[in-house]
Amino acid sequence: MPEFMCPLCGHLHSIRYYDPEDLPLDIEGVTKVGLGQGKGTKVVDRHSLLWDNDVSPKIVRRVVTLCRFFLDQKRITQNEVKQSLGITTTPTQDTISLKEYNQLREDAEVLKAQVEEEKKRGDVEYNRVNNLQVKLNSQQITIKNYNKIREDNESLRSQAEIEVRRADRESSRAANLQATVNSLQKKVNSLETKLENAKSYNSELRRELEESETRVEEANEVLDDLIETIENSTSYEFDPDLDSREEFIAEITRKLIEDIEALKADEEK
Ligand SMILES: [Zn+2]
Repeated sequence: MPEFMCPLCGHLHSIRYYDPEDLPLDIEGVTKVGLGQGKGTKVVDRHSLLWDNDVSPKIVRRVVTLCRFFLDQKRITQNEVKQSLGITTTPTQDTISLKEYNQLREDAEVLKAQVEEEKKRGDVEYNRVNNLQVKLNSQQITIKNYNKIREDNESLRSQAEIEVRRADRESSRAANLQATVNSLQKKVNSLETKLENAKSYNSELRRELEESETRVEEANEVLDDLIETIENSTSYEFDPDLDSREEFIAEITRKLIEDIEALKADEEK
């Protein structure tokens, strides 16, 4: 005999004899007592557990879950559910079903959670905005500093350019001065060389002069000796007022040669 597992109670039921319509609607609690060995039990109490907090909520939740499952599986439509439950599409203002109430409460919880979430996000956002504001302020200070630094840099750079131009001018003037100094130095060097040459030439001349003077003195001595010899050996006498010594000696020498020539001629006769 085919059976199925009941999703409501979890027990196996016969497919052929399963007929839940016959079952009582109320959740009925039953109390039994034993009748002794082999004699079974006897029901001593039956009472509704509809408002009981142990069983009833579990069954309610299960039924709703099953209903949801059938709706999701398209085994039943919402309209069929509404019709079965007698829910009209335009609910009156003063009546509200438990389901709608629960739904509204659920929606309210969701909205409340969303509001809490938004508030949290708002706080985070507010903090972020505050942080950004602080950063922006510090950034503005930084930008101010940057502008100041840039201005200072510009000023320093233009000063530096002026200094560079001045330095260029000074440098070219210095170069001109250096060129002049170099040229003067060359002239001085050349003059020094000339002076050195002149000095050495001068000392050469002085030496030659001294040598000449010595030679003149020697010559004078020779001449004096000659004149003395002539005066001692002949009758000729040197008159310093009238004759230069050279001319006197030359004249005496000529006369002596003539005398010698005459003596030689006499001897040959
Ligand atoms: Zn069952």
